[in-house]
Amino acid sequence: MGEVEHVVGMDIGGTKMLAVVFDDQFKPVGRFRKKSKAKVPPEQHINNIIQGALDDAGVQKIRGVGMGSPGPLDPDTGVIIDTPNLGWKDFPLAGIVQDHFGVPAVVDNDVNMGTYGEWCFGEVQDCRNVLGMFPGTGVGGGIIIDGKLYHGASGSAGEVGHMTLEVDGPFCGCGKNGCLEGLASRIAIAKEVVALAARGDAPYILENCGTDLSKIRSGMLSRAIAAGDTQVERVVRHAAFYVGVGVANLINVLSPEAVVLGGGLVEAMEDLYLDEVTRAVNDHAMPFLRKNVRIVPAKLGDDAVAMGAARLIHDKLAS
Ligand SMILES: [Zn+2]
Repeated sequence: MGEVEHVVGMDIGGTKMLAVVFDDQFKPVGRFRKKSKAKVPPEQHINNIIQGALDDAGVQKIRGVGMGSPGPLDPDTGVIIDTPNLGWKDFPLAGIVQDHFGVPAVVDNDVNMGTYGEWCFGEVQDCRNVLGMFPGTGVGGGIIIDGKLYHGASGSAGEVGHMTLEVDGPFCGCGKNGCLEGLASRIAIAKEVVALAARGDAPYILENCGTDLSKIRSGMLSRAIAAGDTQVERVVRHAAFYVGVGVANLINVLSPEAVVLGGGLVEAMEDLYLDEVTRAVNDHAMPFLRKNVRIVPAKLGDDAVAMGAARLIHDKLAS
């Protein structure tokens, strides 16, 4: 048997968990995906999913495991402080995996890992300063400054979805009013689209999902717009413009070389999002700061978090 060279990257989501085994060229050689909710305890569930990916790859030994998880979490200790979606509190994720597999493990915020993956493997590898913006069920973001992920004093920097854009704006899940997420997440869009459907102003939506908010996913919005629901398009464009205002504010503060746009809404409606974000950046970022900023769509899709996490553990082992 040759030298051990594989690493595992894991994407821990509120609904699904995915582990991917990568070779030394970061080619995926095995994977395993499961619903996040399980009958077994979470520590066992996570180890089972990693083992499933190792079995799929036919790999017995690995160098380490990188994981992206919803936060807040402590990237230094690998402890998840609190994740409402998964019901974890002070959960020592890195330690659990480290003890079970006997190799180093690291944990970072899932959106940070998505940004890191896009930076290491996507279209912005030549940049030292990158902003990642991922509107979907929520609105997440990651910040790379001088070639390093930025964590801030608390370890949890990058909560771009909770910057206030309207002081008297709609209520947000975080308990404040007028956050970007409350204005521009898929949930925020779906709330408005349900009202349109109920009034008869969104015929495609009414026919295909009635007024069931949970059925109004990104792909459904995209199909409704293609089918000619102009009021739905207005609502989505408005939300996309707000994402762009958030990007513009961050360009003014951080002066990145590139902005990567990803997440479910962008994947489903890439052109619309690039359009509106570019328009908002032109309107709201300072000319000198926005001049050479590239705004590009994310490239890695569902594997972004796992790839970023795998690369993070690789980099930690190398340093
Ligand atoms: Zn908020």
